[in-house]
Amino acid sequence: MGITAYANQFVCDRHAYEPGKPIEDTARELGLDPRGIIKMASNENPLGPSPLAKEAMQAALEKAHIYPDGGGLALRGAIARELDLEIDNVVLGNGSNEIIELLCHAFLNAEAELIAAEHAFVVYKLMAGLFGARYVEVPDPGFVHDLEAMAAAITDRTRLLFIANPNNPTGTMVGQEEIDRFMAKAPEHVVVCFDEAYFEFLREPPDVLKYVREGRNVCVLRTCSKIHGLAALRIGYGLAAPGVADLLQKARQPFNTNALAQAGALAALGDADHIARTRQLNFEGLECFHKGFRKRGLNFVPSVANFVLVEVGDGDAVFSGMLKRGVIVRAMRTYKLPGWIRITTGTAGQNQRTLAALDEVLAGMTT
Ligand SMILES: *Cc1c(COP(=O)(O)O)cnc(C)c1O
Repeated sequence: MGITAYANQFVCDRHAYEPGKPIEDTARELGLDPRGIIKMASNENPLGPSPLAKEAMQAALEKAHIYPDGGGLALRGAIARELDLEIDNVVLGNGSNEIIELLCHAFLNAEAELIAAEHAFVVYKLMAGLFGARYVEVPDPGFVHDLEAMAAAITDRTRLLFIANPNNPTGTMVGQEEIDRFMAKAPEHVVVCFDEAYFEFLREPPDVLKYVREGRNVCVLRTCSKIHGLAALRIGYGLAAPGVADLLQKARQPFNTNALAQAGALAALGDADHIARTRQLNFEGLECFHKGFRKRGLNFVPSVANFVLVEVGDGDAVFSGMLKRGVIVRAMRTYKLPGWIRITTGTAGQNQRTLAALDEVLAGMTT
């Protein structure tokens, strides 16, 4: 009998996450020069890491032989001060994805339910499966979370409900009024998770930290992977009232975030200049793609994040065609959107090159 017969069935049944294609893989497979390839696939920062973070991490290297601060006190303290929270409200994760897993550890089992939107970030579903929980998908007409329908989907077994705001891969958000109306109805036995991975890119950011301060059962997720440009470091954090936060602290490994990531994150959070430059570049990138798609008559979802979902006919074919031209985008079949691709904003030059490659590929497909 195969070893899987002895393994945890939930693990056997799990589908692996498909990440954006790495530049080095693409270069090797297609015989291209990696320096000529651009990655517009994983919502990374085109300006690179915060320079202050690089400096801090170089200094931290000198102490690489010492275990990291397991309590992450310096970073958690800085986050708490910045957001007007207490240090007990802050939980560090090996990427905010780890916080998602910790929430599942704390609240899911085979009897529990997790609610998310139909086109929500796929990691929620992958994690729910790992714990054998029922994954409840609520339709999102127009690719926008329908909070009323999500509230109506709550049952006695619901333990987690995810609101990705803005959502990936749709780039849409829900506003303050809808959130407040939803929170007025949210029952105590459900932890409402606001995944705010792209929060810093918003022009009109809603405030959900007030619910943390009020002691409601919410968890707000933020990350250093996106605007701060530290995706490789794997560091993010959850913000929650002490009741929820304490459970997450109990569920994590002793040294789940490493010392370089802690040092880099601490410096990056204080690098207002890098944040402002990245925000500005992204506003320009969004405008470039929105205008570009409109001009070409392509159907797209106007985005408030740092990527745009656009309908191209055959997403897999367009992905491959663009790959051959050294432009990595993300096909959306795993999101049940086989006709769409998702493109991350880049520098002005990268955006133009992406549109030019898209034009070539689309022209080749119609002839
Ligand atoms: C990118 C992203 C994250 C961040 O993941 P990390 O583990 O922090 O790198 C979380 N949620 C959503 C919706 C994302 O798109």
